[in-house]
Amino acid sequence: MTYLIAGNWKMNGTPASAKALAAGLAAKAKAGSKAEIALCPPAPLLSAVDAAVAGSPIALGAQDCHANEKGAHTGDVSAWLLKALGCRFVIVGHSERRADHGETDAMVKAKAAAALKAGLTPIVCVGETDAQRERGETSAVIATQVAGSLPEGATAANTVMAYEPVWAIGTGKTATTADIAAVHAQIREVFKATAGEAGGLRILYGGSVKGANAAEILATAGVNGALVGGASLDPEDFWKIIQACP
Ligand code: PEP
Repeated sequence: MTYLIAGNWKMNGTPASAKALAAGLAAKAKAGSKAEIALCPPAPLLSAVDAAVAGSPIALGAQDCHANEKGAHTGDVSAWLLKALGCRFVIVGHSERRADHGETDAMVKAKAAAALKAGLTPIVCVGETDAQRERGETSAVIATQVAGSLPEGATAANTVMAYEPVWAIGTGKTATTADIAAVHAQIREVFKATAGEAGGLRILYGGSVKGANAAEILATAGVNGALVGGASLDPEDFWKIIQACP
């Protein structure tokens, strides 16, 4: 299975910095890379990044989409527009969207359904908060989020899952490899029960992945890539993560 390393730039970058970052990575990727790479810039920078990675194997991704194709939804972006702008992936259900915008599993499911209909691969994020982990609820939270966020028609081939413990995002803390392996195995099981099959499903780990810890995380059983926030803005460190894929 080809590993996927997706860079989530979050709300960072300018047209100039996005172009420089993406062009630098594209030049490296053209010479060969150990993983499939996706860059997910803020929506207004999608076209600049698309132009910068043209002719390279780097794919374009977005950070969110609306559940509807079009209409009166000020400030939102449709999956169909993302597709027209050259996106191959869209992140849905990121914990920052769940926390900042009150996104529920049902909303994430509707967004993932729109992504599939538009011809995009949704990267569906799930993960427990620190309080849920402390209360021993990780497994219950993951089961509910995976089952509740997957739309009809989701398959191992057209969907990517991402396990992102909320307490590990942007904090410098990472889950132990034993915990990551256990949660990834559970995600695969619930995905199979919900979607009917999970062979070939890619499950990314996200949460303070850096060049220094990537090799250990990416070699963990059931990990098929990484969703990278902060380190994806540092071209040297992001490339280290890509090259750490087994
Ligand atoms: C993320 O935003 O998906 C993420 C994992 O962030 P970071 O790598 O900064 O923890």
